[in-house]
Amino acid sequence: MSLGEFDLIARYFDRPVRRAALGIGDDCALLTPLPGMQLAVSCDMLVEGRHFLPTVDPERLGHKALAVNLSDLAACGAEPLAFTLALALPRADEAFLEGFSRGLLALADASGCELVGGDTTRGPLNICISVFGQVPLPATGSGALLRSGARPGDDLYVSGTLGDARLALEVFRGTVSLDGASLDAVRKAMELPQPRIALGMALRGVASSAIDVSDGLLGDLAHVRQRSGVGAVVEVDKLPLSDVMRVQPLNLQRLCTLSGGDDYELLFTAPAEQAVAVAAAGDAAGVPVTRIGRIIERPDAGRVQLIDAQGRSVQHDALSFDHFRT
Ligand code: ADP
Ligand code: MG
Repeated sequence: MSLGEFDLIARYFDRPVRRAALGIGDDCALLTPLPGMQLAVSCDMLVEGRHFLPTVDPERLGHKALAVNLSDLAACGAEPLAFTLALALPRADEAFLEGFSRGLLALADASGCELVGGDTTRGPLNICISVFGQVPLPATGSGALLRSGARPGDDLYVSGTLGDARLALEVFRGTVSLDGASLDAVRKAMELPQPRIALGMALRGVASSAIDVSDGLLGDLAHVRQRSGVGAVVEVDKLPLSDVMRVQPLNLQRLCTLSGGDDYELLFTAPAEQAVAVAAAGDAAGVPVTRIGRIIERPDAGRVQLIDAQGRSVQHDALSFDHFRT
C-alpha cells in the first residue's frame, strides 16, 4: 500500500481514547467494565459481494459494518463500550478510507462505542468487527437478554418495520421497480440500519427473550423457538410495514417481511403482564414496538403457525420468491 499501514491507521482510525483504559497503539487495548457488569462480546464479518455490493457508498458501508455488530449488543440488552476493526484492503484507497472511517466513527460516537484496536492487511475487501459491551450480572434481575427465555403464553413483539432492506435488494436484482423517492427510502433501510441499543437496554428485566432480525423474521424466530423449546404463532397482518412496503403486492410484502433479512430490528417476547412496560420501553427508546403474535407450547410440526386477520392459516409456500415474480 502506498500509504503505509501505520500511517493509514494513524490518519483514519487512531483518535484520543474516551472510555477505554487503553486504546490503539499497544499490543492490547484495555477495557474496564463497571463493577457488577459482565462483558458482552460479538463479532461479524462483511465480505464484498456477499454482504454488500461493490457500488455501495463507503460512508454507508462504514456505518453498516458497525451497525450490524451493535445490533447484536442491542439484542442482548448490552450497553456498547468498544470495538476492534480487522480490515483487509486491496489497496490504500484514500477516498474509500476517508468515507468509510467517517461513517464508521460517526456511528461509534453516536453510540458511545470506541475503536480501540484492530488489524490491517492487504487482501480482498473484508471488514471484521468485534464489539464489546457491558450488561448487569444475572443476579441483579436484569441481566442479558437471551434467545432461550421465551415461555408459552408470552407475547411476541418486533421493533420498527420489516422487509424494506429485502425490497431494496429485489430492486437491485431487477425483480421489482420503485420510483426514486421510494427506492431512496428502502435503500436507506438496507444501507443505514439503526441498531436498537436504547430499546434493548430498556427491555432488560421486561422481555423474556430477544434476538435481532438479521436473517429474516421466520429464520430468526426459529432460533428463539429452538433455544427456548417453544412454538410460535405469527399474525401476518400485524407485521409493521413502512409506507413504501404498504403499497406493494401482498405476496411481495409477505416475502420481504417474513423472510427478508438485514432488518436489524429486535424480535422479542414478554409475559402478558409486561405489556405496559414493553410500551414504555418503546416510548423511552423512541422506537415503535408492535405485538405480532404469541408463544405457544412446542408444536409437533415444528413450524411457526402463520395466521391472517381472520385467524385463517397462511401457507408457508406462499412465501416463495417465484410466486410473486410470476
Ligand atoms: P500487532 O502486530 O502487535 O497486533 P499491529 O502492528 O498490527 O499490532 O497494529 C498496531 C496497533 O494499531 C495496534 O494497537 C492495533 O490494535 C491497531 N490497529 C491496527 N489496525 C487497526 C485498524 N484497522 N483499526 C484500528 N486499530 C488498528
Ligand atoms: Mg496486528
